[in-house]
Amino acid sequence: MMLAMKPNILILGAGYGGMVTAAKITKELGPNEANITLVSKHDYHYQTTWLHEPAAGTLDSDRTRMPVSQLIGGKKIDFVLGEVEQVHPEENKVSLSNGEQLDYDYVVVAVGAIPETFGVEGVFEHSFNQWTVNGARELKEHTEYMFAKYNNEPKDEYLTFVVAGAGFTGIEYLGELSVRVPELCKKYDVPLNKVKIYCVEAAPTALPGFDPELVEYAMNLLENRGVEFKIGTPISEVTENGVTLKGGEEINAETVIWATGVRGNPIIEKSGFENMRARVKVEKDLRAPGYENVFIIGDCSLIINEETERPYPPTAQIAMQQGETVVKNIKALIKGGELQEFKPDIKGTVASLGGKEAIGVVGDKKLFGTSAHFMKKMIDNRALWILGGAGLVLKKGKNPF
Ligand code: FAD
Ligand code: NAD
Repeated sequence: MMLAMKPNILILGAGYGGMVTAAKITKELGPNEANITLVSKHDYHYQTTWLHEPAAGTLDSDRTRMPVSQLIGGKKIDFVLGEVEQVHPEENKVSLSNGEQLDYDYVVVAVGAIPETFGVEGVFEHSFNQWTVNGARELKEHTEYMFAKYNNEPKDEYLTFVVAGAGFTGIEYLGELSVRVPELCKKYDVPLNKVKIYCVEAAPTALPGFDPELVEYAMNLLENRGVEFKIGTPISEVTENGVTLKGGEEINAETVIWATGVRGNPIIEKSGFENMRARVKVEKDLRAPGYENVFIIGDCSLIINEETERPYPPTAQIAMQQGETVVKNIKALIKGGELQEFKPDIKGTVASLGGKEAIGVVGDKKLFGTSAHFMKKMIDNRALWILGGAGLVLKKGKNPF
């Protein structure tokens, strides 16, 4: 009767947090010790951190994704392709959008984030805001269509691009777009000076909180490639004609790209967990307050930096590290032992700027240009290595040179 006693472990989401949990858990728990099921709404994992590239068309979107079956192949994990609707923590169940319910003894919630609008109207109706494989494909195709359309119907708004937010997502996307635009101009016989790229940022600087010298480097580089920054200028509405800025100025544009930050997955709110913008301030062992068998990680969790007393920005770096801690803690709950406290080990931040350009801080070293570019590609390859070893790096990895 040993089999009937095996606990069910559900991992929700096949992103960074979920896949690291899945990859590591089978090393700690044998098939006789637990039933492990991964649930995700796509049958592929994707590298969210690369999506600015396919979104601009500088990388094929297929490079960013890989079948879950290949990643978990050989490991004793069941995969359920399904959209999670809600966790029922009082009943130890998870419901899916097809009406199915899954029972668990332990659940790891790793379903990522959605765009934050801060109440700005029109974002979901009139902007490109989905940082997913499907979102990237749509934005890439739309951009190319705008160039194709312009010479038949020369309206300025077809060639006007507004990026909302100069955080890391906005800046990395601008890096790629500003490299792609001259190629599209050539391909579609469009004069480069007809294209307008705006970056509108609410805060008094781009990349608020990041090293000022590196911010200046990034802004100069992007400006030289034709990007016009409007700093200290919140967008107050997105309309079918473009954006309205605080103060009333309007920019007419057929393409608005929304990158003003994220909030946790709405599943968190729906499931009744105490939350701040759909992120749960988890206990030090990564469990949801009040629940001994619910772990929440990645962009759905909120971890406070004890030095600054502010939340850590949600990153893949943290999500992957949390996956490792969760595995140790589930093992301790099942086999006995102490639960570990999660302590992020922030190795740095590196952002690509398109081509062979990037900026970053690693340890106490500032990097820019080709050395930062090299580091960024190595970080991208490292994530592949963690998920699928040398084979995955060879198949999907990036050339750092
Ligand atoms: P994700 O990796 O987003 O995975 C969530 C998973 O859940 C996905 O597989 C999704 O399909 C699945 N899912 C969602 N909803 C459901 C549902 N209802 N049912 C079932 N499955 C569901 N961070 C860094 O550290 N470094 C970087 O360089 C970096 N670059 C970035 C670049 C871009 C363009 C963006 C958008 C983000 C970047 N980030 C970076 C942030 C990083 O991508 C996120 O912090 C990270 O992906 C969070 O991991 P996660 O596991 O919580 O969610
Ligand atoms: P973010 O919160 O880092 O930046 C969003 C920016 O949008 C902010 O600068 C904010 O002031 C601005 N903004 C908010 N409302 C606005 C409005 N109405 N009008 C104009 N600007 C507005 O969010 P992000 O860039 O989407 O990144 C999300 C998370 O992913 C962050 O934690 C980030 O660190 C991480 N990330 C990391 C990397 C990297 O390490 N290379 C790359 C991308 C994202």
